[in-house]
Amino acid sequence: MSRPLKIVKDAVIIGAGASGLFAAAEAGLRGRRVVVLERSATMGNKIRVSGGGRCNFTNLNVTANNYISPNPSFCKSALAGFTPDDFIQLAERYGVRYYEKEHGQLFCKGSSGEIISMLRRRCEEAGVTIKYNTKVHDIAKRGDVFVIVSSNGIFHCNSLCLATGGISYPQLGATPFGYRIAAQFGLKVNPTRPALVPFVFNAEDSTNYDGLAGISIEAVVTCNKRDFRGGVLFTQRGLSGPPILQASSYWRTGDYISINLMPVTDAYEFLLSRRTQKADLHNILPFPKNFARRWCEAHSYVKPVNQYNDKELQEIAARLHNWKLCPAKTEGYKRAEAVTGGVDTGELSSKTMEVKKVRGLYFTGEVIDITGQLGGYNLHWAWASGYACGSCM
Ligand SMILES: Cc1cc2nc3c(=O)[nH]c(=O)nc-3n(C[C@H](O)[C@H](O)[C@H](O)COP(=O)(O)OP(=O)(O)OC[C@H]3O[C@@H](n4cnc5c(N)ncnc54)[C@H](O)[C@@H]3O)c2cc1C
Repeated sequence: MSRPLKIVKDAVIIGAGASGLFAAAEAGLRGRRVVVLERSATMGNKIRVSGGGRCNFTNLNVTANNYISPNPSFCKSALAGFTPDDFIQLAERYGVRYYEKEHGQLFCKGSSGEIISMLRRRCEEAGVTIKYNTKVHDIAKRGDVFVIVSSNGIFHCNSLCLATGGISYPQLGATPFGYRIAAQFGLKVNPTRPALVPFVFNAEDSTNYDGLAGISIEAVVTCNKRDFRGGVLFTQRGLSGPPILQASSYWRTGDYISINLMPVTDAYEFLLSRRTQKADLHNILPFPKNFARRWCEAHSYVKPVNQYNDKELQEIAARLHNWKLCPAKTEGYKRAEAVTGGVDTGELSSKTMEVKKVRGLYFTGEVIDITGQLGGYNLHWAWASGYACGSCM
């Protein structure tokens, strides 16, 4: 039987995703001998599908307020150490063409592949070795040395970074491995929930709003005192679209969400100005026809407008500004762009991402309990935390 390969490196990084590749290049450029171990056959699998294939790689307005965490201040140091401008300069140096879509969100003009190519070239320039189809099974620490057991042999190193991501989109390689290793080293790991994920209707709303998939309505969605504006999109099973995905990160089972269907119009004045009309209510509402009819039927508003009295019009207006829904659930990890929860920030140095009580052990990216809002914030956290780690590991 052949003996397992023994390879000694200064630093081993597990995961060739956004944060792992960024940390690897940074450490390599500092002269460290780095190997990245990746279970898939390719690098940057989530980057490839991100931003609908165009990768919303950062946001001009990144602040700690754009992150959800038990300790939102934790990310301040890393965000200050690697800013959106830093990433833009890097992208320009590697010829990535980009544009601002809206609200400071920067996307590739071509495809996400340009960001992946940039990361690959940077790793090559830094002399980083990447081993694909290499799944890490176990990790132990003997003295100052980490022993990493993988499907491709055993690796030894003094600095080890877990950049294994969260458990969203497992179909792209995500695993709970980082959480398991954190727990093995006695670190606190906070329970995870899917975030940035569509909602599934409850049984009643499913019947009421069946067949509306594809319809989008400009609205403000509120969940647990957070408001998000944008297009609410009906799906086969529920609701999606930017404000719904944002709201989902703050939602817990049983919570209601509120949708303001007329965020820029006073609904009561709108109705009063049309109160003499003989048309049915659904025909005068400024929404796609199918939705207006279904919404009115669901609320039993089936009379012509001129048959409603003042009190009834006030009630309808209030509902238009505050349409309450109680989703049955979210679409879960398979459709979630992120997760909340993960390795507790209290276990890590906010400057370096090193575990306070285990010298040489680092965590970066989504595996940490920091979740960005929609808009390029999650990838920016991957770059910033990867940079913080790679600069000192
Ligand atoms: C559909 C989708 C669209 C998104 N769009 C955007 C966007 O436009 N903008 C934005 O900011 N964010 C976006 N995100 C979120 C963003 O992609 C992630 O936050 C980011 O990729 C996390 O980087 P990471 O390095 O922490 O983890 P990942 O990129 O998930 O990398 C982890 C890597 O570790 C590997 N791995 C796991 N376990 C092991 C093991 N045991 N052994 C070896 N390797 C292992 C995995 O195969 C994977 O390659 C999107 C996410 C999804 C799912």
